[in-house]
Amino acid sequence: MLLPIYIYGHPILRKISEDITPDYEGLPKLLEDMWQTMYESDGVGLAAPQIGKNIRIFVIDGTPFEEYDPRCKDFKKTFINAHIIERTGENVLQNEGCLSIPGIHEDVLRKDKIKIAYKDENWEDHVEEFEGMRARIIQHEYDHLDGIVFTDHLSVLKKRLLKSKLNNISAGKFKIDYRVVLPK
Ligand SMILES: [Zn+2]
Repeated sequence: MLLPIYIYGHPILRKISEDITPDYEGLPKLLEDMWQTMYESDGVGLAAPQIGKNIRIFVIDGTPFEEYDPRCKDFKKTFINAHIIERTGENVLQNEGCLSIPGIHEDVLRKDKIKIAYKDENWEDHVEEFEGMRARIIQHEYDHLDGIVFTDHLSVLKKRLLKSKLNNISAGKFKIDYRVVLPK
């Protein structure tokens, strides 16, 4: 089932999400719906707050970014109860976009390496390190769990320049072909 995507300005996107337990109702179906929604809207990642749930889950398939980083090919993972342990390496500037902020793409500075603890869809524990584009995609999705969106990372000047565009997005003035939930 396709789920509508919550759009910039919605308060759900600003809340801190919480861990879940294995008996979380309807989890397998929710994950299935998140994958379907992500692929249908041409995203490389989707976090639960973007479909209106403040729980610490995101899904990623980095394959479309294979040309930027070959390690993105078949980088397909479910992250449950994700917690970044450390961010290291250089600060790298790279272009990002977000299904919740249609039409805006900006360069965002992020650390090149992360270590993250999470559970997969079988509730197996993992502590893994990622770098390059994979670390970037994870950090972008992970931010959603902490109520952060990529435009928050931009300079004060850049944010000021984008303000009216962001207001228009919150008001529903954009064209995309997936279903959305606008801020009230
Ligand atoms: Zn996003």
